[in-house]
Amino acid sequence: METQKRFETALLPANDAGIEKAVSLLRQGELVGIPTETVYGLAANAWNPEAAKKIYAAKGRPSDNPLIVHIADLEMLKSLARVRPQLAYTLADAFWPGPLTMIFPKAKEVPDATTGGLDTIAVRMPSHPVAARLIRESGLPLAAPSANLSGLPSPTKAEHVFQDMNGRIPLILDGGECSVGVESTVIAVHEDGVRLLRPGGITVEMLSKYCAVTVDDGVLHQLKNGEKALSPGMKYKHYSPKANVIILDGSPDACAEYVRLHKGPGVWAMAFEGEEKLLDVPSMPFGKRGDGLSQAKVLFDRLRECDEKGAKTVYVPMPEKDGVGLAVYNRLLRAAGFDVVVL
Ligand code: AMP
Ligand code: MG
Repeated sequence: METQKRFETALLPANDAGIEKAVSLLRQGELVGIPTETVYGLAANAWNPEAAKKIYAAKGRPSDNPLIVHIADLEMLKSLARVRPQLAYTLADAFWPGPLTMIFPKAKEVPDATTGGLDTIAVRMPSHPVAARLIRESGLPLAAPSANLSGLPSPTKAEHVFQDMNGRIPLILDGGECSVGVESTVIAVHEDGVRLLRPGGITVEMLSKYCAVTVDDGVLHQLKNGEKALSPGMKYKHYSPKANVIILDGSPDACAEYVRLHKGPGVWAMAFEGEEKLLDVPSMPFGKRGDGLSQAKVLFDRLRECDEKGAKTVYVPMPEKDGVGLAVYNRLLRAAGFDVVVL
């Protein structure tokens, strides 16, 4: 294992001076923690293999887990990928800038380090003004996975990035809390429709207005031994606090009863708004029942909070599986190691 270079990590507001500093570091092949509308990213020049390798080292990320490359315009897209079919442009027009990542055959100039050795590349045009400005002002496509240590919950606040990356990178830009709160939707685009590899802020329902959508098996099911993950990140243990996370699938009353029977030292719960009063263990607010958007926004913060509270077991109510709820459920399943109790 390569020893990590130690940095004095600066945490700066994402103002003109902060952005200028970030652009200069990115041009030198260094890493910067940046805000995006999904989660904070750990950004590097996508053209520079040494810079891309630093991302894997800083995160402790397996080298076969590819990075998403962030762009500011379609010219940049064409330099990185062979864009086909036409449906990709229709979806770009509908959803970019925004939390949608599309996979294309990569241009040969893109370093293997950036794509985890794959001959495809995942590309997204972020809508966050700071991310967009960094790409434009540096003139660089930015490879940026989530800015957490591999395996831990993704960061939705600059302070989360600092917790994980302090000493590992020179700079984090603070652009406030991420508006979506879960990583982008990842799709493979085919002639006749798209395959959803990772659910996110752009939902199946939104994509279905434009084309047929197939949800990949890996989204809601654990891969069996030997099965190949089309979205490599989905095969790893992910988003996990130290606490044992258990999903409860039942009515508010049934969940409360189950928790009551299993209460004890270190037992916590997450509760949808108004349902905390049913519980006789301490709880953390988890958005509104049936409202995936509100759950997505707080999910990773709550998973990090589990460790801050020293929780040993955390019971979490099952999110709805439509809209952004599908993304919340997909992340929660991995945080829980697929441990679901049906009541
Ligand atoms: P992160 O930004 O940390 O959530 O990681 C990016 C994720 O995007 C990876 O873990 C993969 O699941 C997915 N991804 C990136 N590039 C590709 C690709 N070429 N093919 C399939 N999935 C990809
Ligand atoms: Mg990630």
